Amino acid sequence: MRQKIVAGNWKCNTTLQEGIELAKAVDAIVAKEGAKDVVVVLGTPFTHITKVVETVDSKRIGVAAQNCAAEAKGAFTGEVSADMVKSTGASYVILGHSERREYYGETSEILNKKVALALANGLTPIFCCGEALNIREAGTHNEYVTKQLAETIFNLSSEDFKKIVIAYEPIWAIGTGVTASSEQAQDMHANIRAAITAKFGVEIAEGTSILYGGSCNAKNAKELFANKDVDGGLIGGASLKAEDFIHIINGF
Ligand code: PEP
Repeated sequence: MRQKIVAGNWKCNTTLQEGIELAKAVDAIVAKEGAKDVVVVLGTPFTHITKVVETVDSKRIGVAAQNCAAEAKGAFTGEVSADMVKSTGASYVILGHSERREYYGETSEILNKKVALALANGLTPIFCCGEALNIREAGTHNEYVTKQLAETIFNLSSEDFKKIVIAYEPIWAIGTGVTASSEQAQDMHANIRAAITAKFGVEIAEGTSILYGGSCNAKNAKELFANKDVDGGLIGGASLKAEDFIHIINGF
């Protein structure tokens, strides 16, 4: 059975102190209410990871970095490598987020290097894909997303691909308050799973967790997660409030 996962992406928000308080609040509610069989992940800024790892119970909550370098080490001022991330106690890394693709020029070639380094260092990539509004309006979103995957994680061996979590995040839904409809999300997730089946076979496709991201919140999570190919969410804005985040986790 594939894992249900709800991962928060705090982006460039919270001071260290605020982040610790947020992590404490999420951990306390998860400890009290339980998260059923849902894997909970907090994607924090690099500066917060070590403290957040210390703050939460690792049996209940995993911690993710939001990026890692495309190089293993060396003269790359300001970069944080995958083995540095691993050494903080994080177990996941969000890669290929549309904000990084758009604002920092992350191409498929760069992402392939990051994914390889993440896997080599024992991190689980949460690999993002998703189309812009003009592509959705042109009706070519399925082909577009399949191509994003074909250029990147579909180049992995079956053994490595099994370690990947995919997050489908339509760019037009990220931070906009406009969510994909339940039907749009299910259609795309089924498209992604069909592409995985064609490339790696049905067993691997059925075992791959595909998360939805894009204005997922306490109100719409239940309907989105009810779809058979939606295995959870990557949550931006709504992960910054512990109560909202817990409601989303309870959306299963
Ligand atoms: C995200 O950026 O990963 C995201 C899903 O953001 P939001 O939930 O705020 O749309």
